[in-house]
Amino acid sequence: MRPIGVFGGTFDPIHYGHLRTAFEMLQALRFDEVRFIPCGDPPHRGVTFASARQRLRMVELAVSGQEGFAVDDREIRRTGPSYTIDTLLTLRAEFPDRALGLIVGMDAFLGLPEWHRWGEILDVAHIIVAHRPGWKAPDIGPLGDMIAEFGTHRVEDLHAASHGRIHIHAVTQLEISSTEIRDLVAAGRDPRFLMPDAVRGEIENSGCYAPGESRDEVSQERAAPAEK
Ligand code: ATP
Repeated sequence: MRPIGVFGGTFDPIHYGHLRTAFEMLQALRFDEVRFIPCGDPPHRGVTFASARQRLRMVELAVSGQEGFAVDDREIRRTGPSYTIDTLLTLRAEFPDRALGLIVGMDAFLGLPEWHRWGEILDVAHIIVAHRPGWKAPDIGPLGDMIAEFGTHRVEDLHAASHGRIHIHAVTQLEISSTEIRDLVAAGRDPRFLMPDAVRGEIENSGCYAPGESRDEVSQERAAPAEK
């Protein structure tokens, strides 16, 4: 059975940088599906701008109708900080023999050593790193060592084992960020062509990034440690 791609993020909001990356991974790595898992309570940043429900809704609208894309709301249903290792362990329990590929951007990968129990991630899943504009793969330090030991260029290796490899994959570089979109909307400008129209419509209807809109209270209350 083909691997499942696991794409976590705050998705505040989801945009074409996320969607194109996931789509290229789905095709190039021959994944069975890519699951978008919006973070319930992001431990690495403490607050979100749109609420968990709104972010989930935007992800649902964005992937709707796309074969091979799925939305998974387990982190939003769970209480407490959304640690990636916990998410992977629940997926592993559900799919004992499947290869799981955790998809992260290079910027997120570089922050991996701050994540909760990060050393255990490769015991549960592969790590798939999307090259993002302006970021270089580390060749020294703990991540450099990890790439030297577990890195592979071969897509077959991701299918042959259920976990334990790191694969760095170049994707079409779309320099779009959620921060830029929020700033744009807050400044009264139109985010058209940076995301699917359905997501743009939802942002407009909910007013979630309008100037003066408060951050998600739940996340604010739980704001805490800098790990994921
Ligand atoms: P923010 O600007 O709020 O930090 P973001 O645009 O980086 O948000 P996240 O939801 O934090 O989006 O990212 C989820 C995942 O998607 C991360 O692994 C991140 O590296 C990756 N990612 C984000 N934007 C892009 C992009 N333009 N191209 C490729 N990967 C991306």
